[in-house]
Amino acid sequence: MSVRYNKQGFTFSSSMEVELLVLTDLTYDELENFVKSQGLERYRADQIADWIYDKYVFNFKDMTNLSKQTRNELAKIAKIIDLSPVERKVSKLDGTTKYLWILEDGNTVESVYIVHPNRNTACLSTQVGCPVGCPFCATGQSGFIRNLKTSEIVGQLLFMEKLHGEKVNNVVLMGMGEPAFNVDNVFKVLEILTHPKLRNIGARRITVSTAGVPEFIEALGKKFPQVRLSVSLHAPNDEKRDILVPLNRKYPIALVIQALKRYIEDTGRRVTLEYVLISDLNDSPDDARELYNLLKGLKIHVNLIPLNPAVEGYKRPSHERVTGFARYLEARGVEVTIRIEKGQDIDGACGQLRMRR
Ligand code: SAH
Ligand code: SF4
Repeated sequence: MSVRYNKQGFTFSSSMEVELLVLTDLTYDELENFVKSQGLERYRADQIADWIYDKYVFNFKDMTNLSKQTRNELAKIAKIIDLSPVERKVSKLDGTTKYLWILEDGNTVESVYIVHPNRNTACLSTQVGCPVGCPFCATGQSGFIRNLKTSEIVGQLLFMEKLHGEKVNNVVLMGMGEPAFNVDNVFKVLEILTHPKLRNIGARRITVSTAGVPEFIEALGKKFPQVRLSVSLHAPNDEKRDILVPLNRKYPIALVIQALKRYIEDTGRRVTLEYVLISDLNDSPDDARELYNLLKGLKIHVNLIPLNPAVEGYKRPSHERVTGFARYLEARGVEVTIRIEKGQDIDGACGQLRMRR
């Protein structure tokens, strides 16, 4: 018996193949429809959601406010989650924890749980590998296999919260992969994470990072204006960006900036621009000047990320070079932070995530 959800609703087939419906793939409306399709009362959807998203119970057998028979019936056609932890590494430097998950097809992805003094952040992956192929990024260099399903993205968060025994206050889609190329699942994840009856995280506590796909930026602004947007720029002109972010050959800087302007107008939100500083490639005073000219007047915040060693041949600039770059922008009124990376000893910092087999 298998059950599938599509635009027409749930369809059941009695083939021998056992394909279980994964409940963390469902929006709230879909969960309600599923519950109704099982002949259960509507409020059962809230009970099940509470078990999953509040109590982190990932099997029906422990959902004690459902009858035994219901639990047995549900377990025959559905399950809660479809990834499992295979490895966990804790940073000795700062407590950052990196998880390696195995998916049902044997592929693996990583996520990171970052501990700050009074808040915790979950960094989630959206794809197995990444098709963009930025040369300094470990994920980009490991090739692209497939998009993650909604449940495989939501599952990373729920499992980390369960294992840590506490809820995170921030979620960033900044792990492996390019969210813009998995837009249907990413939008579904945002819907599930922000829904008051599901994970109920404030949209303002979620950040999506993209290498810069104008249509995606526009769609995100329209659909989730409260979700925070980060754009990975990394270079001040097309010549350099064509190499550092190969997607630039399709969507050059001018198009990205135009999309940002529109996004800022539509949403009124400040956007973060990520700029990885790489020794001798994009860290000179000239680069800073060109970057300033590109950004002046925009409601943005520049996040400078001194490169984390991930791929041979790409080096982090000296401390002086990094602060010099930051000061140039600051002196001209640009809001700048230098990101202090966490989890470097466990390769859990930005750009250090990769697939493993
Ligand atoms: N694909 C999306 C989201 C995932 S990458 C994007 O690129 O925005 C998250 C961030 O890590 C990006 O800003 C990315 O450029 C940065 N990053 C990648 N490799 C890095 C490295 N070696 N050192 C520091 N940051 C890196
Ligand atoms: Fe993909 Fe982002 Fe890495 Fe570039 S930096 S390869 S877009 S994950």
